[in-house]
Amino acid sequence: MTAMKYAIILPDGAADEPLDELNGCTALEAARTPALDELACIGRIGTLRTAPQGFLPGSDVCTLSVLGHDPRQVYSGRAPLEAVARDVPLGPRDLVFRCNFVTITGGCMRDFTAGHIAQAQASRLVADLNAHFAAEPIDFYEGVQYRHLLVLRDVGELDCNCTPPHDVPDQPVEQHAPLGRDAARVISIMQRAREALADHEINAIRRDLGENPATDIWLWGQGRVRPLDNLLERYGLRGACIAAVDLIRGITRLMGLAQINVPGATGYLDTDYAAKGRAAADALDEFDLVCVHVEAPDEAGHLGNAAEKIRAIEQVDAHVVRTVLNKLQSTGAWRILIAPDHPTPVARRTHTADPPPFCIAGHGIAASSAAGFHERAARASGWHVRAGHKLLPALLTGMPLPDDPATTVR
Ligand SMILES: [Zn+2]
Repeated sequence: MTAMKYAIILPDGAADEPLDELNGCTALEAARTPALDELACIGRIGTLRTAPQGFLPGSDVCTLSVLGHDPRQVYSGRAPLEAVARDVPLGPRDLVFRCNFVTITGGCMRDFTAGHIAQAQASRLVADLNAHFAAEPIDFYEGVQYRHLLVLRDVGELDCNCTPPHDVPDQPVEQHAPLGRDAARVISIMQRAREALADHEINAIRRDLGENPATDIWLWGQGRVRPLDNLLERYGLRGACIAAVDLIRGITRLMGLAQINVPGATGYLDTDYAAKGRAAADALDEFDLVCVHVEAPDEAGHLGNAAEKIRAIEQVDAHVVRTVLNKLQSTGAWRILIAPDHPTPVARRTHTADPPPFCIAGHGIAASSAAGFHERAARASGWHVRAGHKLLPALLTGMPLPDDPATTVR
């Protein structure tokens, strides 16, 4: 007998709310998704609480849940997870922050991506910020486009609450400044970075071209690295991950998954879906488990663009889900989990904590004949997993599925 193969597909932020412009449908309902619908029919769907009570529904918290980790036990912040993906050297008293390049004009958060600033320009700004702060125990590390990291060396504990910049689109930034006993230190770094960026020639060029300049850095998501359960040690499974964004690469790397780089995978709407799908299918030849993350539905949600969100979901369906499913069905025993980490509703342009739908299918999972993979059908299933992190371990071990109405005596 061949060993079981597992696939996890994470369409980031794909869950949504009914929209008038879609005649009361969500993006998942409106999108044409034959592969997802087939899985919902031959497998089972439900809803998953991915943000525990008291946690904001960030991709960090929600993806930890989906991948089987209790955020209440392991969550320390988003930045350390990304730092792992970037091989940033961290000492035990170092604190790592996410550092976005953003566009703030008239005191408002105009663009939390600084116009999706080009890598070469961002690289130059990061280098110049390092020079600007050279005399202080502060190091900037280059990430992707507008998403970078800042390490405060030897800081110990720091009482400071920061707000993610994508949670305050077009809002006054003053009321979302860092709070807490040590907030002034963080605010001071942001203010001094603004001074360094104000007359930077990169920004002069961007303004001249009508592009949003990187007026500011925005610090948030700070924390320290904590270990996660290792997939091989815990389940005896060798896994691989295909993801373009550092957060997911960091989480899965801490789980011991190999990282597969796919040319053309951008973490944005223009990502090469087919290349990711093929790479995932190929990885199943070598690995027991493959995890594929696609950021595009979340980006479309943040843009408030229903048409782009539908397109992203349809691309995931046709080029990732279908390709992986074909591969699984040709290999013997298999199981699959499809799980958006959280909703990023087009109408709200930010994450919500509503439990997103999930789908499981494959070996030993009874067919539910669900009408499709979307929020309405998932709620109608009557299956709600209250602690999202319990689902994947059950799927990987064959243990009873959590909160399963099919096994509950009514
Ligand atoms: Zn997300």
